[in-house]
Amino acid sequence: MKYALVTGGSRGIGRAVCQKLHQMGYEVLINYVSNQAAAEETLALIGGHGELMQFDVADEAAVTAALDGWKAAHPEEYIEVLVNNAGIRRDNLLIWMEHADWKAVLDTTLDGFYHVTHVLLQPMLLHKYGRIVNVTSLSGIKGLPGQTNYSAAKGGLIAATKALAQEVARKKVTVNAVAPGFIHTDMVEGLDEASLKKDIPAARFGNPEEVAALVGFLASPDASYITGEVISINGGLYT
Ligand code: NAP
Repeated sequence: MKYALVTGGSRGIGRAVCQKLHQMGYEVLINYVSNQAAAEETLALIGGHGELMQFDVADEAAVTAALDGWKAAHPEEYIEVLVNNAGIRRDNLLIWMEHADWKAVLDTTLDGFYHVTHVLLQPMLLHKYGRIVNVTSLSGIKGLPGQTNYSAAKGGLIAATKALAQEVARKKVTVNAVAPGFIHTDMVEGLDEASLKKDIPAARFGNPEEVAALVGFLASPDASYITGEVISINGGLYT
């Protein structure tokens, strides 16, 4: 059995990544924070080849309890693919932004990355094989107005990707990031698609399966010499 964990696997990009990793032969641990029905739907879509794992990535005690529990139940096995995908938006101009909205976004993306990766990294190093893929954003490369919190969090995740990649490359653990532009999920609900797509050279939003294909490649043995990279997937929006 080979195991992969996808944070925020219940919906959107995370769900498509679960499906991709399942196609690649993984048992998928589907993390979610509150939407159990959606997580169950993801599990059904992968034919039950996985398990649900509820925790808030921002809550260190909850992450550790869940993952240590899994390790105790699987003493001979380890999670060789980690996709840090859980993320939220709390958009506002900085001048109006409440500290709680600043903090919630950084806690989920950056602390979430730390909490989960910190627990799963050591077994990857011991087994001398691992794949970590972080889902960042165009905002983290370019910065987008109304998203100083989100841009800071995703930009920080890019820097963490590059730093960690150099720490663990000798142990055959790769760490990469994907940076989607606008992708059809719940997260972009309410955005003015007709107007936004005028600026996208491909003239459309992307879909979660397109992002999952890229994540799947970076998570595969074929990507063994790619590490510390940030790959944009945005229909040509950013070059
Ligand atoms: P989505 O449809 O809103 O799904 C978000 C997922 O994250 C859900 O599975 C949700 O779980 C989970 N989640 C949120 N907070 C969590 C927490 N504290 N702990 C654990 N899980 C948590 O979002 P999406 O569009 O698929 O986005 C996935 C990732 O891609 C995010 O990191 C996002 O920033 C990034 N991204 C998205 C786009 C886009 O255009 N959609 C563009 C660039 C980057 P529940 O179902 O339990 O709520």
